[in-house]
Amino acid sequence: MNVLMVSAEMAPFAKVGGLADVVTALSAALAARKHDVRVVMPLYGHLDRDREKIRPLAKLPPLSLRVGHQMHDIRFHMRGSPRSKVKVYLVECPTLYGREGVYSDVNGEAFPDVLARAALHGQAALLLARLLDWPVDVIHAHDAEAVPAILFRSHWYAGREVPGPAGSLLTIHNLAHQDIHPTAGVDTLGLPRSMASYPGLLEFHGKLNLLKAGILAADRVNTVSPTYAGETTTDPEFGYGLEGALAGRGDSYSGILNGADYETWDPRRDQALPAPFGPKDLSGKDVCRNELLKELGLKQEDGKPLCGFVGRLVYQKGLNLLLPLLGRLAEDGFTFALLGTGDKKLEAAAREAAARHPDKVAFVGAFDESLAHRIYAGSDLFLMPSLFEPCGLSQMYSLRYGTLPVVRRTGGLADTIIDAGRKRGNGFVFEDASGEDLLAALRRAEVLWEDRKVWREVQVRGMECDFSWGRSAARYEKLYRAARRAGKGM
Ligand code: ADP
Repeated sequence: MNVLMVSAEMAPFAKVGGLADVVTALSAALAARKHDVRVVMPLYGHLDRDREKIRPLAKLPPLSLRVGHQMHDIRFHMRGSPRSKVKVYLVECPTLYGREGVYSDVNGEAFPDVLARAALHGQAALLLARLLDWPVDVIHAHDAEAVPAILFRSHWYAGREVPGPAGSLLTIHNLAHQDIHPTAGVDTLGLPRSMASYPGLLEFHGKLNLLKAGILAADRVNTVSPTYAGETTTDPEFGYGLEGALAGRGDSYSGILNGADYETWDPRRDQALPAPFGPKDLSGKDVCRNELLKELGLKQEDGKPLCGFVGRLVYQKGLNLLLPLLGRLAEDGFTFALLGTGDKKLEAAAREAAARHPDKVAFVGAFDESLAHRIYAGSDLFLMPSLFEPCGLSQMYSLRYGTLPVVRRTGGLADTIIDAGRKRGNGFVFEDASGEDLLAALRRAEVLWEDRKVWREVQVRGMECDFSWGRSAARYEKLYRAARRAGKGM
């Protein structure tokens, strides 16, 4: 099948969170199954064109596209070799994408023209398929940012041609990010104003909601784990107001667990680590732990685990449960290696804990891919006390690196982690979104840590868990077939 992926992120060169990893790994898994996958994304101003091998597509001329009342000059580029299995196209548009940042600027302020950026992205993706005369079986849109491609397909391109049936699939990576704007934004999208007033697709409590429109308009909708799919149709805490729209999709809304890309995430050949290791020989992990402690200026106490955290510093990740416990646990001898950026208040709280316990708590407020690998490898426990978690990749990575995840039972965490107290256990699971429950899980980990033999068994079982993309890619194929049938009007 010919799959047109529309995404604002792609690892490793334009990554904000898990979406980037998913687009890269899923595309590769689908290409390995002989599909022609082409990704279209914006050419962000901060991308180093030489290093990323980004070159203009000579056969397509520069063009001018209208977004709202403004014309924008664009040019298509390609990343990597034209013979690559997955073709990556980038849309250059100096007026809309010519600055640093995917969704927000360097200070974390969301761009005021996110809607115009999304509108151009969607238009350019469909136009590219036409210019290349490449018949599209499925438009695979990732998150709200890519929804305009679906809306334009059914409105502008209903009469004009996108070659191929061009059925559509919307994958929701996080219901908390919906892209809500004032209704006047409908002009930026160039869609009929009626769509932004009740009962129009875009209307949402007097505003315009891109994700909602995508949920109603796409031929198929999915999210990134079965448990999160269930949670988001029944509970407003997870559905963020869209639970009714999702429930209304019935069987055409489903959950497919993300996979981990074990080409990138494999401690046996990870270039970021000071020493390799695997389930048969874990001695390299001790080297990784010692080097990490040195790198971050930490001192680990005998009998106490080193706890890692890598992630966006946002409410979702359960930092309000974790941060208040740091002082107490540090005094008990636990050590912490924390890496993340995000909410300024949470960053300040983490920095403060590190300043108060310099040899027990380290906080690095940066996005650092290489350090992330070393934290996954060097830690004994990985903390993910998320309030909700659509899928989560970090727990899969830490399993592979022999680091036992401590997770709350929610979304994809519930689908991947089994408590060590149970058969086939691979981590620690707690129920309530409370500091007490997290603390109790850490205390259980502390007790198990004493029993090196059992710890090793749980660790090796985790390292042998297989969350590779093959099975999930086959499930996406099935959805693509259903979307293509719908695109053909069948
Ligand atoms: P989410 O998509 O909600 O951010 P996931 O667990 O699905 O969460 O994916 C997060 C990805 O982003 C992981 O690959 C994680 O290692 C990476 N990541 C998050 N924050 C940082 C950071 N500050 N530095 C390096 N990698 C990070």
